[in-house]
This record gives sequence, C-alpha cells and structure tokens, in this order.
Amino acid sequence: MSQLPIRNEAAPIGAFVRQHLPQILAYCQANPEEFANLQDREYCLTNFRQSYAVLRARTGESKPSKCWAAKSSGPFSDAGYWVTSEWVSNLHTAHFIVYLISKGIEPIGVSEDFIAWAQETVDEFGTTSAAPGGARYRSTALGVAQNALVRYLLSNLPYETFAQDDWEAVKARDFGGTCAYCGETKKTTIDHAVPINRIHLGEHRLGNLVPACGSCNGRKSNTTYTEFLETFYAADPEQARMRIGDLDTHAAKHDYQPIEDHEGVRPIIEEARAKLAEVASLYLDRINEQLAQQRGC
Ligand SMILES: [Zn+2]
Repeated sequence: MSQLPIRNEAAPIGAFVRQHLPQILAYCQANPEEFANLQDREYCLTNFRQSYAVLRARTGESKPSKCWAAKSSGPFSDAGYWVTSEWVSNLHTAHFIVYLISKGIEPIGVSEDFIAWAQETVDEFGTTSAAPGGARYRSTALGVAQNALVRYLLSNLPYETFAQDDWEAVKARDFGGTCAYCGETKKTTIDHAVPINRIHLGEHRLGNLVPACGSCNGRKSNTTYTEFLETFYAADPEQARMRIGDLDTHAAKHDYQPIEDHEGVRPIIEEARAKLAEVASLYLDRINEQLAQQRGC
C-alpha cells in the first residue's frame, strides 16, 4: 500500500504541520535537545524528507526565506524560532505523521489506515533499518539497496541513447533556458519529471528530463510534476495547467510515455526487490558463518 490512499485525509500539508506546532513545541520544551535537532538539516532530511531545517532561530525581525511569517510560525515565534514553509509533498505528510507518532503526539484528523499508509511509505524510503540481526539506528537499510536497484533498472529502459548535446538542446529549445517549473531564468540541473522510484516508476529518458532550478528541485523532491505544479500554483490553476501541458508536450516529442501502472512492470520491480533481499540475507549468513568459525564458536 505504497501509493496515496484514495482520499488524503490529512489537511493540506502546510496547514497540517501548523495544526501540530503547539504539541511539537510542548515536546521540545520537555526535551530541549529537540530544538537543536529541528535546526539540524541532516536530522530534518532523515526524519521529514525536508531539505530545509524545520526551525531557524530568530535573530532579528526580518524573516529568512523559506520560512513562514511569525504569525504562521505559531507558538514557535514567541519561543524565538521561525518554522520552514517548505512543505509540499505527500512524502512530507507521511514523514510528518511518523515523526508525530514517534514523539507520542496524536496526528489530528487521520484514521489508522492513513497512519498505516504513512508508516509503509516511510519504511519504503529506507530511513529505518531492520536487517535479519535486528534494527540498528542509522545503519544502511536494505531499502537503500533495493531503491538503488529499482533506480538502476528504470534508468536503463528501453534502448535509447542520448548525449550531453541532446540534453543541452532540450534545455535551450524545449524550455528556452528557463526552469520548467517556475519559468525563471536561473541555473538549472536535470530533474526527472516523473521521479525514478518504486512508487512512480519514472525513467531516465530524454522525454522525462527537464531543467529545474535548485529551489524547485528541492521542493519537488520525490513528487511527480503534476503533483508538484498543482501545489506550486495552487493559487493559479491556469498556470499549473499550462506548465503541465508543456511538460506533456516535451515527453510526447521525445516519445516518452510514463510506465505508471503498467500491469506487467510493477510485479517485476517488486520481484527484483524481493530477490535482492534474499541475496543480501544469503551473503550475511555466509559471512557470519565464516566469522563464527574464526572465533571458534
Ligand atoms: Zn524553478
């Protein structure tokens, strides 16, 4: 059950986060090290899939970028912090719910089923590691290797070749040197419009490559272009529709049709993941056997 349930029960992610700020603040006050954790980018990336630190200390009145205004930062504002505003995706929702539960905070307005979806989604992205020997904090999770295998497979389908010149042509001709999402003329990098992972089955093909500025790339994270653009242009649906249309045109021009729910492909991907788990377990056993012999037990 990795895909979003039919109905997203949680409030839109930004509002959902704000609903829980009082409880999170109370948790931080009881556990002051959490104030430091929430200002640590790596902690926030691991726990929220959030590219920005959740909290920033207030050093003056002027609001840093990527943060909510004092009013929206709620009780954290009085406590001396800004709260990041960069919540956009279903992945953020899933991680946020799991974070709340880990801190003993009850998520508001969501069912057990929705919480189960959140937990499965987070597990899938490999932040917890439960190997045969037991869970280990910050160990490399099998899910990381499985995700890498899926990315490898999806990055080499089908028989298509392209070189840097082809990519440069896409940037210049298809997108006029601008970011495919915000339309600004900034330095861009390659983004996969449909992300390459077990959920979305995007591919590394020219028709799925689009230029994105650092800000859009970070905010889009593991979401699809439609999901991201609809959130990004929530106040301007016409603009969202137009940009989605441009990306669809780009995909069609380069003969790219997203696999999405291809009946035959998804089970093969799942089988590949399961096989990899078997291989990992086989080799763990063999190495442990060797080590046991050497220790004479
Ligand atoms: Zn952009």
